[in-house]
Amino acid sequence: MTDQDTAVADVNGLDWDYSPAPERTRPEIASTYGLFIDGVFQPAQDERTFVTTNPATGARLARVAQAGAADVDLAMQAAKNAARPWARLSGRQRGKYLFRLARRIQECARELAVLETMDGGKPIKESRDVDLPLVAAHFFYHAGWADKLEWAFQGRPVKPHGVCGQIIPWNFPLLMAAWKLAPALACGNTVVLKPAETTPLTALHLAQLLQEIDLPPGVVNIVTGDGETGAAVAAHPALSKLAFTGSTEVGKALMRQTASRDIPLTLELGGKSPHIIFADAAMEQAIEGVVNGIWFNQGHVCCAGSRLLVEESILEPFVAALRDRMAQLRVGDPLDKNTDIGAINSREQLERIRTLVRLGQEEGAILHDVQTGPLPGKGWWFPPCFFTGVQPSHVVAREEIFGPVLSVMSFRTPEEAIRRANSTPYGLAAGIWTDKGSKIFDMAQRLEAGVVWCNTYNQFDPASPFGGVKESGFGREGGLHGLRAYVRGVDR
Ligand code: NAD
Repeated sequence: MTDQDTAVADVNGLDWDYSPAPERTRPEIASTYGLFIDGVFQPAQDERTFVTTNPATGARLARVAQAGAADVDLAMQAAKNAARPWARLSGRQRGKYLFRLARRIQECARELAVLETMDGGKPIKESRDVDLPLVAAHFFYHAGWADKLEWAFQGRPVKPHGVCGQIIPWNFPLLMAAWKLAPALACGNTVVLKPAETTPLTALHLAQLLQEIDLPPGVVNIVTGDGETGAAVAAHPALSKLAFTGSTEVGKALMRQTASRDIPLTLELGGKSPHIIFADAAMEQAIEGVVNGIWFNQGHVCCAGSRLLVEESILEPFVAALRDRMAQLRVGDPLDKNTDIGAINSREQLERIRTLVRLGQEEGAILHDVQTGPLPGKGWWFPPCFFTGVQPSHVVAREEIFGPVLSVMSFRTPEEAIRRANSTPYGLAAGIWTDKGSKIFDMAQRLEAGVVWCNTYNQFDPASPFGGVKESGFGREGGLHGLRAYVRGVDR
């Protein structure tokens, strides 16, 4: 074993060797990346760049162009020029481009998965087995819709908006790009996409695939940069529709910004989703669901089941089983196929998690953290953990932590579970675990959440709409509901 391998074993407190299984595929990463505007890569006009790093090592991966207002203007003009010819193509033709793209993504899936893991820090088994298959599935699904829109919106003329601005976060970089691009293109819109500043690389490699499939120039433009770039996209006069996935704070700012211009807006925002476990639930399945709900992608999931509500009569055994299961999770090299918990996406996010966890302890909640060994020396790491003794007023019960931190509470009656679950400004998702179908239907109707999973969690399908209520946003992505956002006249 190398030192690094030993470290991985140590991190997990194992007293036996676990053979490392590092991913061998290595994508070609250029030293610099330009903006993708009008079908070609080009530097920012003022030549500004920023560095994107591997959060598992802190090593620099590439320099990426930082788009300013002038670059966004170029991208918007390119999208505007491409809008009419793209909309006039038959649905069948647009569908062919999407099918071609989906197949290229499948062919490059391994490289893209590795790149996603290197740029974002998530375990390779997630980017390989969850993100990339879903990315391809989204393009396949929407390719299928492109020539059937008249059936989707019967009796109404199907007209695209024109130029769509799409701003996405860092937790599922390529998947969020697919969720946004696929329906927009299928419905005949053109796009200016703004990836997150810490994870721009897979979107830029997607741009290379767009060149390979001969997508007409200007139909998709990708402008990299930070909030300044996103703000320039949202403020541009050529914008006809804005779709945003990210924090509630920025979502609210965009709502204010677009309100005066009557720009249709969809917002997929934050969450503090509850997982409700009844005493009659299948315990082992529920434990796996909770593990998947909070520790998938280091808890960097908008719909993470970050509040666990357990029926009081089983609280003790459930917490003990959860603790045992948590001890088996392997934290370490995200490129190792055995790794369960990868790196935290950025230093800023790590600081935010640490601050909220400290506040939780100061408020009197009890932290359970069974990772006994040291975390890797380089990069940004936070072990999986959970709090017990949590009061609904505690900061860890209210604030979105967006890290591998679970808050455990209890309830005595279904009414109390509903009251606690709904006592949050958010309303993205919820999970119910019980043996009784009637209880599921009753609870699901009363939960204030856009998505309710029953005896499962974190299941995604392109045909199934996803989105929130309350401060988790509005509008849906996926399925027929998701298409509506990209067709004029049926989107509100
Ligand atoms: P963020 O809001 O800081 O950033 C999201 C995107 O917006 C990034 O591309 C960023 O550069 C851009 N941005 C920042 N300031 C902007 C501004 N003033 N104007 C325009 N664009 C701006 O969020 P984040 O930290 O990247 O992502 C984490 C958040 O995203 C969490 O709250 C999470 O719950 C949420 N999220 C929600 C969903 C969902 O489907 N509901 C999915 C993924 C993430």
